[in-house]
Amino acid sequence: MFFGLKYVEHNLEEIHKIIEHFFDELSKKVHTDFSDALLPIPHKSIIIKGSSTTGKLNKLGGLLKNVFVEFQGLADTDKDLVGLAFIDSNKIEAICEKHSIPVPENALPSAIQKSFKELFDYLYKDKDKLIDGVLTANHYENFLSENGNPRICAFCCLETIPHGGEEGRANYDHYLPKAQFPFSAINLRNLVPTGTTCNQNVKGEKVIAFKDKDLTVSTFAFYPFDENFYALDVMDFHISCKEKPTIKNNGGVWEVKIIPKDTSNRILTEKIESWDRVFEIQTRYAREVKIRLMSWVEIFKSDSENLNSYLNKELKLNKEKVKSEVAIVAKWLFFDFLSKDVSLKRLLIPASSSTKKPEDFI
Ligand SMILES: [Zn+2]
Repeated sequence: MFFGLKYVEHNLEEIHKIIEHFFDELSKKVHTDFSDALLPIPHKSIIIKGSSTTGKLNKLGGLLKNVFVEFQGLADTDKDLVGLAFIDSNKIEAICEKHSIPVPENALPSAIQKSFKELFDYLYKDKDKLIDGVLTANHYENFLSENGNPRICAFCCLETIPHGGEEGRANYDHYLPKAQFPFSAINLRNLVPTGTTCNQNVKGEKVIAFKDKDLTVSTFAFYPFDENFYALDVMDFHISCKEKPTIKNNGGVWEVKIIPKDTSNRILTEKIESWDRVFEIQTRYAREVKIRLMSWVEIFKSDSENLNSYLNKELKLNKEKVKSEVAIVAKWLFFDFLSKDVSLKRLLIPASSSTKKPEDFI
């Protein structure tokens, strides 16, 4: 995580609260019939009745009733498990700090898995019909303005995010994937506007809160809505050149490592590891340098003396720049390395560009 985001409220929270209340009532184990006593007072008639004249259950009411009926058939210990699973899987910040462990769907009693999946699939798919104001129109643009209009994906800073309006909105990444953790599917604290590469190409179903595929070893993770967090305050990025750029290797071979400034900080070390495991940050930064370095040195072909002043003045990193300019940290890392490595500097930026051009090497 490069920078924490400010959490912005939305009506979707109302739906989440209804479900929260429902599971809270279920876990009390006192209800023998499905009725609107399971729902919070302001929402009873809206959710349960299709219309005030027929008194029939609407779609959501029907799905909640299926869960209720299956829940009633469970043993007492399984009822406790289900109640706790909902609570524990929705404390997103506590999960990131390992104070709470989320419960995957396949750990629930099998008798109830189907009705759960149907309920949460419906809630997520039809969320915009259930609330006053869709996520696209009402949340994303508020999210952008409350966050100082970031242009960049907070997880990688290697890609842009859309700017609302005609540009549309970013993907809302389920930080805990909804396939494994349907309980948190409509929890807005688990829905993070994210760049397309991070969300669709890199993260997939990898689970930030567990080290292993079997979801048995929990781990620390960055909480996306820790709005004061800024990576470069607490961690250092190191780059090394494993193979210098040549004609054959197309930009060389690079390695990037991210470590806490305080190397004894085990929690931060683990958070960086889970960030890297899920978003492949170190590999992507190394690749970014390899792909872009020739275009970056282009401006110095005829002005090699200005490299150090460029690094010290124009390329100086600050929080606003990191949030607004794609790949600025990768660029800074590369130039910082280049300014200290005389032979590479000579290779890429010959003193006289008329005698040897960088293309001769790349
Ligand atoms: Zn990204």
